[in-house]
Amino acid sequence: MSVHYSTASGIEAEDVPKKPRRAVMPALLRGCLCRCPACGKGKLFKGYLTTVHACEACGQAIHHHRADDAPPYFTITIVGHIIVPGMLTVELLYHPELWVHMVLWVPLTILLSLGLLRPVKGALIGLQWALYMHGFDPEAGEDLPEPDPAGRLRTE
Ligand SMILES: [Zn+2]
Repeated sequence: MSVHYSTASGIEAEDVPKKPRRAVMPALLRGCLCRCPACGKGKLFKGYLTTVHACEACGQAIHHHRADDAPPYFTITIVGHIIVPGMLTVELLYHPELWVHMVLWVPLTILLSLGLLRPVKGALIGLQWALYMHGFDPEAGEDLPEPDPAGRLRTE
């Protein structure tokens, strides 16, 4: 069984020129190493989490990524999956005092979160680049935010 796609304008799906496929895993790894997802040479960040405007090596524009809240979300998920089993294992095996847990897990949680946030953001930017998301598609129009549906009501 095959599926045939067509649009209301009569342009067939086969008529649209395909973009060159970008490999996802290398882009993820380059971003994770805080390098440009396109070339892997230029820096991705100019600050701790502030991205460069464009890659200094290949000129790939980086400024229009939309990582937004995803890096903290994935970082919290990863850190939680490391800390919680570790804490439960230590508690079940050694039954330490509460202060030992505090001294061990609170700093580890903070260090892991700060250490993972940047590579996770880089990997997400690499994923957006590989999938032509947002401004990484040179053929797409300007990626503007959705208009506020309640905006008209506020002005009246
Ligand atoms: Zn580059």
